[in-house]
Amino acid sequence: MEWKDFATQGARAAQWAADYHAGLRDRPVRAQTRPGEIAGKIPDQPPDAAEDIEAILGDLDEIILPGMTHWQHPRFFAYFPANAAPVSVLAEYYVSTMAAQCMLWQTSPAATELETRVIDWMRQAVGLPDQFSGSIQDSASTATLCAVLTMREKALGWAGNREGLAGQKQVRIYASDQVHSSIDRAIWVAGIGEANLVRIPVTGAARAMDIDALRAAIAADRAAGHLPAGVIACVGGTSVGATDDLRAVLTLARDEGLYSHVDAAWAGAAMICPEFRDVWEGVEMADSVVLNPHKWLGAQFDCSTHFLADPADLVRTLAIQPEYLKTAGADGIINYSEWTVPLGRRFRALKLWFLIRAHGLDGLREMIRNHVHWSESLARRLADAPGIEIVTQPMLSLFSFRMAEGDEKTEALLHKINNDGRIYLTQTRVDGAYVIRFQAGAFTTTEADIDTAFEVITELAREV
Ligand SMILES: *Cc1c(COP(=O)(O)O)cnc(C)c1O
Repeated sequence: MEWKDFATQGARAAQWAADYHAGLRDRPVRAQTRPGEIAGKIPDQPPDAAEDIEAILGDLDEIILPGMTHWQHPRFFAYFPANAAPVSVLAEYYVSTMAAQCMLWQTSPAATELETRVIDWMRQAVGLPDQFSGSIQDSASTATLCAVLTMREKALGWAGNREGLAGQKQVRIYASDQVHSSIDRAIWVAGIGEANLVRIPVTGAARAMDIDALRAAIAADRAAGHLPAGVIACVGGTSVGATDDLRAVLTLARDEGLYSHVDAAWAGAAMICPEFRDVWEGVEMADSVVLNPHKWLGAQFDCSTHFLADPADLVRTLAIQPEYLKTAGADGIINYSEWTVPLGRRFRALKLWFLIRAHGLDGLREMIRNHVHWSESLARRLADAPGIEIVTQPMLSLFSFRMAEGDEKTEALLHKINNDGRIYLTQTRVDGAYVIRFQAGAFTTTEADIDTAFEVITELAREV
């Protein structure tokens, strides 16, 4: 295919996109395929001869589409949302048409300067003070890795990058037992080792880090000759929304001279609504904060906003300037590749710019308020349904429930729900018990979809 054919094929793709979305409600949310079924339909050798675009597009509909789980489905209540607002999809189309590498200011000044602006728009939108700057990372996992590397290097006086970790004191990092697995992986990849991720037990309904336990762990490590380096707090943990008391954790981190990172990957989006900001009260004391517009807000993956109270520590940790990357004569400019691990960078700011302008913060706030409100009302209705109990109360739009009869029945209910296809839910464990998570967050969800969720859950619960 060549560019001269693009106007025709592009228009076809746009029609396909519109039809796909118009028909989503009629498709099962989760793919109803068996393992290997799709692979079995793909030739095991690549073609030597060029194939016609008609054949390729035909296979998209016949082979691929039936094997997709529909994350944009209005009744997707599993995991967390991965919304792609139409205007954001449109922005990505323009981005991939220009396909610029935006690693340095001069490799696309507009990409860098727009990124600086929209990061500041987002900072204002979620109410962070104006000393925060930041960048758009591909994912929260990368932002967390950057923060962990900064913790390590700062604590080691920047000796880790130079000399390696052998012979250094043990770098220690603290987090609750509710944090996302991306924290574990950042610790592994940073060479710190899982054994040096100190898990602090949680207390209370919010499942917040026990501050006395955190203080004691730091003191014990210092006494043992280890090197406390950083604290990672979470707001809206992935399992059931665990949320640390940021004011307490960050005050302690500051007193102890530890670098702090806040993982609000999912819940951070709701901070555009001032009435929800009490969940991260104290966040302005953090060194590093991540939240993902690619989850709830509708900037399609990948788009993770990483805020920094002072980028100097991160840049000192990660900037490499070989001669071929130096930007002649342009001092004071930002090269965002120095704020992250990969060199190559996509132009991610454009979709956030399109999104915020096309919906306005008010439009996005209304969506989030609706989701929270609907989720709370569903939890109340389910609490009254026979045989069902709410296990964790809504944290924003996330709650969990189970069958009163226990794990086996709860697991049977989940399988029934997902094989039925009208809604899609996933599971987790709370204090050892198997529970079903519910979150409302899809861009196109309506109140009627929440009613459908209630009907499906109660109808199938009667059958297990
Ligand atoms: C989704 C999530 C992550 C991981 O986000 P990615 O952008 O996929 O790396 C990390 N932490 C929390 C709390 C999350 O909800």
